Amino acid sequence: MVPFRADLHCHSTCSDGTMTPEQLLHHASEIGLKALSITDHDTLDAYTDDILALAKDLKIELLPGVEFSTILNSTSVHLLGYNFSLKDPKILAFCARHKDRRIMRYREILKLLANHGIKIDEEELLTLAIATQPSLKNRIIGRPHIALMMVKLGYVKTIQEAFKKYLGDGCSCYVQGEYITPEETIEILHNAGGIAVIAHPHLINDSKILLRLLAMKIDGIECYYSRFQEKEHKRWVKIAQRHNFLITGGSDFHGDVKPTIPLGCSWIDEEHFRKLQNYVIPRPS
Ligand code: AMP
Ligand code: FE
Ligand code: FE
Ligand code: ZN
Repeated sequence: MVPFRADLHCHSTCSDGTMTPEQLLHHASEIGLKALSITDHDTLDAYTDDILALAKDLKIELLPGVEFSTILNSTSVHLLGYNFSLKDPKILAFCARHKDRRIMRYREILKLLANHGIKIDEEELLTLAIATQPSLKNRIIGRPHIALMMVKLGYVKTIQEAFKKYLGDGCSCYVQGEYITPEETIEILHNAGGIAVIAHPHLINDSKILLRLLAMKIDGIECYYSRFQEKEHKRWVKIAQRHNFLITGGSDFHGDVKPTIPLGCSWIDEEHFRKLQNYVIPRPS
């Protein structure tokens, strides 16, 4: 029998992935995943009625998911949200606010790049970003789109180089944008009936930031992640168990822009998935 595997972290063309939500579901089915969560950056656009119906047809349990960008003490922290109501007006308004935040932010990034002699036309950037997504308003613009544009125009050789030299956190053209806190994000997720999970915790280098996060009304930690070694899994599982947090996991699949990370390379089993699904939501904060 094929073992139950749930990949709870991947990105579609609604944010910075290269597969449409439909392609993601078909791919998940081909590789034998039983459950999936599409966790696009700051948007729920993947979760259309058609996609929910397709998941049913393919017999894949599709868990509502999102990856929210937050800032804590000038440090970027990603929070995964799961199992919330997809129709909750406050979470939808929150996503709309993120969309505006990202428009202001990429405009600022383009200005900073121009100071370095890197000229990127906003219209061209948008055209590139929507090449795989026909509806302009349905695409979140992120740094990977700008990086890809820089490669296309010959300013850098690779996406990695664009991040290393210009766009990475703390680099000369890095812009945080509107400061949205983890506390507000957690509250919005809880009020929508969902849970909040610390994404790729190993990327939080500052232990003080991690301790502050762990003291918030967090529900889980992403203990299984694409690039983790066995030793690292154990470390985060231990921390989650100590705090009585849920244990989650996923690949952070982005498609062609991160070709070394396949869908399903990290996952949780049925026991952990059901625990998450049946988790009694904390009372709204
Ligand atoms: P943004 O959401 O616009 O802040 O962009 C963050 C996204 O950029 C992450 O989710 C990754 O997909 C991507 N990213 C971050 N750092 C790198 C890097 N060094 N190389 C390639 N992609 C990166
Ligand atoms: Fe991403
Ligand atoms: Fe992330
Ligand atoms: Zn992600």
